[in-house]
Amino acid sequence: MVPKSDAADVVIVGGGMGGLVLALSLARMGRTVAVVERQAKLAPYARGELLQPNGLRILDRLGLSEKLKTLPAHTAHRYHFHRIGGGKLCTVDYRMLPPPWNYTLITLPHHLLNLLLQELERTDHVRLLTGTDFKDLLIHRNKITGIRVEKEGRLIELHAPVVIGSDGAHSRVRERLGIRSRLHTYREGYLTMVIPRPAGFDDEARYYVGRGEILGLFPVSDRELYLFYMIPVIDRETIKQQRVETVTATIATIDSDLAEPLRTVASWDQVGYMSCVCVRAERWTADGAALIGDAAHAMNPHVAQGRNQAMEDAMALAEVLEDGFLSGDFSQARLNRYEKKRRPDVERLQRMGDELTLLWNTALPPLAWLRDRIFKGMARHPEVRERVVRTISGLEIRPLGILDRLRVFLP
Ligand SMILES: Cc1cc2nc3c(=O)[nH]c(=O)nc-3n(C[C@H](O)[C@H](O)[C@H](O)COP(=O)(O)OP(=O)(O)OC[C@H]3O[C@@H](n4cnc5c(N)ncnc54)[C@H](O)[C@@H]3O)c2cc1C
Repeated sequence: MVPKSDAADVVIVGGGMGGLVLALSLARMGRTVAVVERQAKLAPYARGELLQPNGLRILDRLGLSEKLKTLPAHTAHRYHFHRIGGGKLCTVDYRMLPPPWNYTLITLPHHLLNLLLQELERTDHVRLLTGTDFKDLLIHRNKITGIRVEKEGRLIELHAPVVIGSDGAHSRVRERLGIRSRLHTYREGYLTMVIPRPAGFDDEARYYVGRGEILGLFPVSDRELYLFYMIPVIDRETIKQQRVETVTATIATIDSDLAEPLRTVASWDQVGYMSCVCVRAERWTADGAALIGDAAHAMNPHVAQGRNQAMEDAMALAEVLEDGFLSGDFSQARLNRYEKKRRPDVERLQRMGDELTLLWNTALPPLAWLRDRIFKGMARHPEVRERVVRTISGLEIRPLGILDRLRVFLP
């Protein structure tokens, strides 16, 4: 039972999806957990997110499938890819996969996080400290013994034999562990909006690619549509000097179904912005500590797997931690089993994310031509489409090989 005191079996820094799924699975194993989250409360944000089949399978394993059905969310099987100003390029249909994990669920992330928080409240094994900022690791005789945090201007020490950094791409835990990493900020980020959902989005989402232009339209409930529109990072501030209507009018020219719903966006306060980063950490573990999710390996959102991979990490790490409790060993050598299991899939997805970024975001005509040709080739080859769906679903991560590429490229 936890921790009214300041000691727990595990301390997790970061109450995002990775941290909360890890806390829940450890609590289900009977371990006590303290979760430290910088934000005071979950604020809704103008963005949506896609739960892939692998993420849905994990939530099912945690017994949350029925509760998921009660969330404002939308089930989508089909993703239509269009050329901006041109026709349809390809449709990716998740029903190519065997049931039950042959669909995606699109929702607003705070609904998912709230669901997990409610679940955590039902266990007396987890203590959640919100509005609490991780400052440093506690080290005694060269061994990690916990963390120092700041809450309401006061420094507090939390003790545990193992500390998990689930604190996102700019992880301070990673930095304090002295783990070297390469952090790359992509040249493009996204304006995001949630608008009334027009007719015609039953069971489907739309993705438009052009020359240096991307628009994604994902229904997030019966009434709402999540929209993301790519812009160069350097334009992030200057774009806001325009009237928001100028930008929404440009977006409406891409898909005329949006003209009416976009009239509800009357101010920049209704528009979010998200930058995209990639993190490649040289290692994910240390003696008495591990990193999960974006802290270890943020990836480009084109693969729509970041959050789902954070959950995969959490499940894999929970098993390794349980072994650690039984043996009393949280050495790097032992925790490294988690990294060994997870790293190959993650690196494949990161490479795929970078490749998609090069082709999808491009403003260069030859690359845009190549991209469209690949989409059209995929439309002709169901076996290649199936391989792509298996990979982005997170169920079997095997990006296209050379033969598949030749097949889609040749007429
Ligand atoms: C435009 C865009 C679209 C995306 N779409 C998708 C998608 O459709 N599907 C998908 O799976 N992924 C998507 N992602 C990726 C996904 O959002 C991330 O991969 C995911 O949120 C990572 O989860 P996490 O738990 O590792 O980290 P985070 O969600 O970043 O959570 C980290 C938490 O740590 C807290 N924290 C940070 N520092 C401290 C500190 N010092 N002390 C205490 N707390 C701290 C933060 O407040 C935060 O709550 C998208 C990303 C972008 C940019």
